Amino acid sequence: MHFPAIEDFYKRLLFLLPFATEFPSDDRRFSYDAPMQWQYIYPHCGGSDQSPISLNAHKVIPIGLPPLHFGLYDEPFDDLLILRNNGHTVEFSVPTTVYGERPYITGGLLGDFYEAMAVHFHWGSSQQKGSEHLLNGRRYDLEMHIVHRNTKYQSDEEARNQTDGLAVLAVLFKVVRSNYLHYQPGLNEILGSLLHLSDFNSSYTPAAFLTLGSLLGNLDRGNFYAYQGSLTTPPCSPVVLWHVFAEVLPISHLELPKFWQLRDRRGRPLINNFRPLQSIKRRQVFQRRSPEEYFWT
Ligand SMILES: [Zn+2]
Repeated sequence: MHFPAIEDFYKRLLFLLPFATEFPSDDRRFSYDAPMQWQYIYPHCGGSDQSPISLNAHKVIPIGLPPLHFGLYDEPFDDLLILRNNGHTVEFSVPTTVYGERPYITGGLLGDFYEAMAVHFHWGSSQQKGSEHLLNGRRYDLEMHIVHRNTKYQSDEEARNQTDGLAVLAVLFKVVRSNYLHYQPGLNEILGSLLHLSDFNSSYTPAAFLTLGSLLGNLDRGNFYAYQGSLTTPPCSPVVLWHVFAEVLPISHLELPKFWQLRDRRGRPLINNFRPLQSIKRRQVFQRRSPEEYFWT
């Protein structure tokens, strides 16, 4: 006899057991040991329009997407950043700028205004590269996500229930053999803070007043891929308009390993915190190129 419903029940139970007493009930319970099992607790993770995906310049629709507009991205924050090791990544909440509003984006695939809420990273290990999105078949060393919420929604919970709820900007980084700190002053502040964030739930405040744009350095903001996808962590809500920049920024081979010495809530190395590739299925992927590239190609 075969009882699929009972099997499913035990599968869920087995997945829950190791965590059951360990975490407060409001915490998101997931581990990168078995991302294929996220769906047993978070059904969206096994659903449609999932991220990350592999982006290929030869399989995109080069339509005339408008450029992204970056509002207040280059204005200083009115407060210092509080970086935190949350056991899955290093993150910070985006403070308001000196103008009293948070930085925001519109344009690209976005029909509304999206306010920057939080920034975090995905990385690999000494053995493995750890970007989430692939570009033309290549996985890169590090991926930064700037998460924005549609300003027509009042809370993250509300936004997670709407297909146009969130917009994430993704920037990929490639390790280079250089001691030189590249012109990404915001990122350099974060890299310099990582040594203080080794333990789960530790936090650190760099002393500099930054701008959100300073995380991007001289990135070509006009050249990006865009598609409809999901959060890459549970609950995997399919509500994210992704914009992934085509230019890959450099990170020194001396800086990248600082991510690998962080530890998760069980005291184990916090490494390889990237979700496996998801199927594109019938989705369309768009690419916008800077006007000067249209001229030469
Ligand atoms: Zn992310």
